[in-house]
Amino acid sequence: MTNSSETPAKSTAQPVPLLDVGRDNEPLRDEMLAALASVYDSGRFLHGPDVSELEREIAAYSQTDHAVGCASGSDALLLALMAMEVGAGDEVILPSFTFFATASAVWRLGAKIVFVDIDPVSFNIDPAAVEAAVTARTKAILPVHLFGQCAEMPAICEIAKRHNAFVIEDTAQAIGADYQGRAAGSWGDVGCLSFYPTKNLGGCGDGGMLTTNNAELAQRLRLYASHGMQPRYYHHVVGINSRLDSMQAAMLRVKLPHLDRWTTSRQQNAARYDQLLQDAGLTDHLTLPAHDRGSRHVWNQYSIRVGNGDRDRLRAWLAEGQVGSEIYYPVPLHRQACFESLGYPAGSLPESERAAQEILNLPIFPGLTAAEQERVVARMGEFFAARTASAA
Ligand SMILES: *Cc1c(COP(=O)(O)O)cnc(C)c1O
Repeated sequence: MTNSSETPAKSTAQPVPLLDVGRDNEPLRDEMLAALASVYDSGRFLHGPDVSELEREIAAYSQTDHAVGCASGSDALLLALMAMEVGAGDEVILPSFTFFATASAVWRLGAKIVFVDIDPVSFNIDPAAVEAAVTARTKAILPVHLFGQCAEMPAICEIAKRHNAFVIEDTAQAIGADYQGRAAGSWGDVGCLSFYPTKNLGGCGDGGMLTTNNAELAQRLRLYASHGMQPRYYHHVVGINSRLDSMQAAMLRVKLPHLDRWTTSRQQNAARYDQLLQDAGLTDHLTLPAHDRGSRHVWNQYSIRVGNGDRDRLRAWLAEGQVGSEIYYPVPLHRQACFESLGYPAGSLPESERAAQEILNLPIFPGLTAAEQERVVARMGEFFAARTASAA
């Protein structure tokens, strides 16, 4: 049946969203609402049983002994640093090419941010750059598993061990990822997860969790997340208030059993882009994301590189054709206005700066269809065909 208000042109120009959280959540709607109703009826909005159950489930999923809920991924990073007593006089080494929260947590505690460059192939922190940045004041190394692929954890942990520094993993984009079989968040002293709605396991609001194999550290994390209070109204340290609430935990528990299936969809979508982009002959114009085959990449993002100053024009062309894309991240943190006083001039971390100019993230969410991916690639093909014709 055709509807008279539909025009034929519309079917070839359906928008492709960068992300459609609703599409992935829709089949779970009834279960999610039932989980919410159950928390509502229980009245245990905080510290409910769903929170401790989710902590157990996430710890198991991350191959760690303990997990501690908190209010966000940003708070997880802050709490990890607080529990390690990172403060004035300490240095923390982290990549510049990451989301702001990785660095702001260090800044807020009065410690010195030491930005280092990335490996241009993986976009992850470069272990050689970490080694070169270590000083006697290095208190922690903070690798980020960017876009869903683990940083080189054996090398980073070895450097940290040799220099007696902590390792805090920013696992916000990498739940379920592993490096040669060992899970993200189980390599270092602590892993920091986010349940922000766009992450691979996204809640319906904010949420975060810390993973660790260290029982004593888990207790300290809990202490810092609850005003340093133990028992009630007796404060041992100056903590913060950061909780994962029962409603978020209940909904995340509905979603967690589906995470591996969604990850498989993301992996299939990534493989399909690789194939489509190759078949369209576009790999002369752009670089496909690299993937270490011995490790599990969970594809929070599918990130291509587009050189020759074409990236922004390509993005505008895609937007005009209603194809969503995004730039993660347009300005590396060492060049942000708020960190100017740290004194990293333009050119100081060249690979982070080049990545910021060249990177483009395409739709990769689990519910994305093959037809939508074909449309994304077709639209890209038109751009490069026109560009080649005009250059000839
Ligand atoms: C999302 C994200 C965070 C912060 O998580 P929130 O839950 O949004 O606070 C931290 N680091 C990285 C790399 C992220 O992608």
